[in-house]
Amino acid sequence: MALTLHVGIDDTDSMQGGCTTYVAALLVERLSKLGVEFLDYPNLIRLNPNIPWKTRGNGAIALRIKVEPQLVDRIRSEVLRTVEENSQLGIEYVDPAVVFLTGPVPEEVKALSRRALYDVVDVGYALKVAGRCGMEVFAYGDFRGVVGAMAAVGEELTGDHTYELLTYRVVEYRGKPRMVSEESVAEMDRATRPRTFDNLDPETGRVLITPRGPDPVLYGIRGEDPYTLLKAMKIVKVGEPIERWVIFRSNQGTDSHLRWIDEPGEVKPYRAVAFRAVVYSKPYTIPGGHVIFRVSFKGEVFDCAAYEPTGGFRDIARKLIPGDVVEVYGGVRPLDSGLTVNLEKLRIVELAKKVEYRNPKCPKCLSTMKSMGRGKGFRCRKCGFRDPKARKLEVELPRDVKPGLYIPPPRAHRHLTKPYSRYGQEKKGMRYGFVEPWHIP
Ligand SMILES: [Zn+2]
Repeated sequence: MALTLHVGIDDTDSMQGGCTTYVAALLVERLSKLGVEFLDYPNLIRLNPNIPWKTRGNGAIALRIKVEPQLVDRIRSEVLRTVEENSQLGIEYVDPAVVFLTGPVPEEVKALSRRALYDVVDVGYALKVAGRCGMEVFAYGDFRGVVGAMAAVGEELTGDHTYELLTYRVVEYRGKPRMVSEESVAEMDRATRPRTFDNLDPETGRVLITPRGPDPVLYGIRGEDPYTLLKAMKIVKVGEPIERWVIFRSNQGTDSHLRWIDEPGEVKPYRAVAFRAVVYSKPYTIPGGHVIFRVSFKGEVFDCAAYEPTGGFRDIARKLIPGDVVEVYGGVRPLDSGLTVNLEKLRIVELAKKVEYRNPKCPKCLSTMKSMGRGKGFRCRKCGFRDPKARKLEVELPRDVKPGLYIPPPRAHRHLTKPYSRYGQEKKGMRYGFVEPWHIP
């Protein structure tokens, strides 16, 4: 009887390039040739982006396949060989890991996965869970990749999810400038939005589907369904050969890393959090163009930072005043000044009244009166009129910002950031079947 086999792979890439998704794309071809039946698109699972020792993307892969028991050994060795051949082993911080699990995913692995999305998960704990759940673990280096590989297996994307079509360059072109027509990307964007997202950055016009640097990805198109991605690929024009392409199912663009918390004690280093707080200090800009303000969360004070790359988003942060009620979303950084939330999003819930106190006018000559001292009333310097009962007038000033949700521009998005266009498009359990084709070769 055929078995369900889950393969989790993490951390085969490095700061210098390489890409875990490329290993997955190779495996799609190699396992297909072995006669394996894929139960799902390869899952591209982005994990907590705030882990300091992880690459910027912090992505892991899960392959879910149906396989005859006598083929399992063959598949295991094929997977391990592919990972070894394509990992940049020997480079610092590259500690790839592969895990195998047969049968349904145990609840404990799902729970570990939920935590790995927003928190730091201890490797020793992960290895214990793997042992208890009968997972086979293969790891290099310091075993840190095991957490990601297990978390990928544990995230079956039963809730909201998106798709990404990734194309890969042939070896001779890697490291050279990518030849992707910018006009065709703009055309693809117009033709497929909002079923695709984050193709371009509207503030700068920059193309966002192409990564920079030496990694093997030529471009990746993110979207709501695999049909739209196939259509989008046909519109994008490239001036170089494509070695292969694969459609992944993913938690990108879902905000699934941001954990809503109700207690300030839950604001801990490297977590991805969301909470409601009250602005506590006037925002100020520090060298480098970053905007900082403090918030009070049930009596505890935290810094919030809108960093320079968030562009126009900082203008919103600058307009806050003490007393505004906000929801802050982002990663927690431990800095010398205390814990700082690196803002990924900001919701203004309620604006405080902005008031200015002004001296009253003289009822006789209409010139502005002057205070005679605290609690002693006002006197007109022009005509001498005195009013011991006069007080300063409270004048409400207009606010030049509105309540609502504010998200930095696409160029500053994390892979997990849910863009404006996805609000209201969240999937609840439904998913698309395989389009034909979903990978070549
Ligand atoms: Zn007067």
